[in-house]
Amino acid sequence: MLPIQDVLPLLQTPRRIFITTHHKPDGDAIGSIMALYHYLTAKGHKATPVITSEMPDFLTWMPGAEDHIINYEAESKKAEAALNDAEIIFGLDFNDFSRTKHLEQQLANASQPKVLIDHHLFPKPVWDYGISIPDKSSTCEMVYDFINLCEDNALISVPMAECLYTGVMTDTGSFRFPVTTSAVHLMVADLISKGLEHSHIHEKVYDSWSIKRMQFLGYVLLEKMEIFPKYNAGLICLTRKDLKLFEVTTGDTEGLVNYPLSIGSVRFATLITERSDEVKLSFRSKGDFDVSDFARKHFNGGGHFNASGGRSTSSFLDTVSYFKQILSDIHPR
Ligand code: 5GP
Ligand code: MN
Repeated sequence: MLPIQDVLPLLQTPRRIFITTHHKPDGDAIGSIMALYHYLTAKGHKATPVITSEMPDFLTWMPGAEDHIINYEAESKKAEAALNDAEIIFGLDFNDFSRTKHLEQQLANASQPKVLIDHHLFPKPVWDYGISIPDKSSTCEMVYDFINLCEDNALISVPMAECLYTGVMTDTGSFRFPVTTSAVHLMVADLISKGLEHSHIHEKVYDSWSIKRMQFLGYVLLEKMEIFPKYNAGLICLTRKDLKLFEVTTGDTEGLVNYPLSIGSVRFATLITERSDEVKLSFRSKGDFDVSDFARKHFNGGGHFNASGGRSTSSFLDTVSYFKQILSDIHPR
């Protein structure tokens, strides 16, 4: 992979640019593709942001998202046409084509230059240009760095700042995880000086729940959370029936995995969700337990040291019992 600086000459003339991110996009995924979309558009390029699954409800307010993002699951022909027509491809907040799910083959077959901006461990050797820094708080922080590298800080508009802030806020757990460096705070200071009203973004993302979602959280914490004091671990397992009961929509399970970690003795939290086509696992830790390694070893996944995910094609019940079996072999502290 050539350094990201080397892609700058390709951006000297207006280009058609395809931007994508991982399946089931989160705040950093949507924030980073939309910030890059706004930036490239301001530079005169024709950018098309494409996601491979539904937009989560808590992000639909994001500037430009509703009008410009193409969801592959709803409009596959349009997404494929944009990919075929593009001269450059940007991949943000993932580093392995399989994380896009539906676009895996098309990206592998695409002959256009592919540019990576990402902060996950172990990028696959499939990118022509790019930057991969696992110590970065978020892909949004890296898009901000990219704009600065292009010497275009003055082009950062309020909509761009709102997208960038969303990703850095959500990926740092509202600026509390250890990845929240002084550089992150300096970036936020810069965004605020450009007119960002940060409390509005916090309200849109975190304080816009439906009543059903709040009741679902109450049910989950009371009925579904198990604590294993011997292993300093917490576990939440959700069946399709649970999700149906509370009419759970995409994004409603966001953040649930963090709740067990608010208990002082819990160092390792897991959420196991039964989806229609697979069982999804989310892992979080505080301190020295590497959940990225755990996800890679046992659940075909990966991510970061303190936040990772994986999946299983075994049944929901078999996955839960396998998880409980391996829990006794690890000792998060
Ligand atoms: P989440 O639990 O929110 O889905 O994911 C937590 C972190 O782990 C995110 O940074 C996400 O990108 C990463 N992650 C989630 N699932 C997978 C997976 O299946 N493979 C890899 N490599 N990373 C994942
Ligand atoms: Mn991220």
